[in-house]
Amino acid sequence: MKIGVLAIQGDFAEHIAMLKRLNVEAVEVRLPEHLKGLDGLIIPGGESTTIGKLATDYGLMEPLRQFGQRHAVWGTCAGAIFMSKDASRNQPLLNLMDIKVERNAFGRQVDSFEADLDIPELKQVTGTKDAFHAVFIRAPIIESVNGDAKILASVADGRIVAAQQVHLLATSFHPELTNDTRFHEYFLSLAD
Ligand code: GLN
Repeated sequence: MKIGVLAIQGDFAEHIAMLKRLNVEAVEVRLPEHLKGLDGLIIPGGESTTIGKLATDYGLMEPLRQFGQRHAVWGTCAGAIFMSKDASRNQPLLNLMDIKVERNAFGRQVDSFEADLDIPELKQVTGTKDAFHAVFIRAPIIESVNGDAKILASVADGRIVAAQQVHLLATSFHPELTNDTRFHEYFLSLAD
């Protein structure tokens, strides 16, 4: 299995480290030709407008859309915004997932917070019982999940923070900033 991590901005190094811990070949993706031969792609957190602008400059928008038609793609935080259809702002989006997001939706006073999430699919695939400790940093919420997309996780007040659309994943939080490899294992099960 060979997984790419979009490496134009954001915390791609943490995702690569996580994949290496799971003994998966991980490569940095900066140009369209780097997508060749990959089984899946992770789009890291960072700043979604910047990721979109750079992806446009590097000619990556169409190749990423095509890649996502047939392969597993997972966006964390800014990556989730970039994968969405609608971010209520004018910025380049991949339109891959039928979700609407609201950027920085948890407000300034809670720029960053952590929460334990109950994610049944994750427990099932990894054969564990524990909640997933999620780290949120200036996180978006997933306002609505439409079409083939479904809700994967919500915080206690019901706001949606993870969604899945067949082989596509979006999370508001950052599993790559924890020691828990289960979300990466879950993604690998979609890439297989
Ligand atoms: N607030 C950023 C954005 O809207 C996302 C933050 C993150 O990826 N940690 O793009």
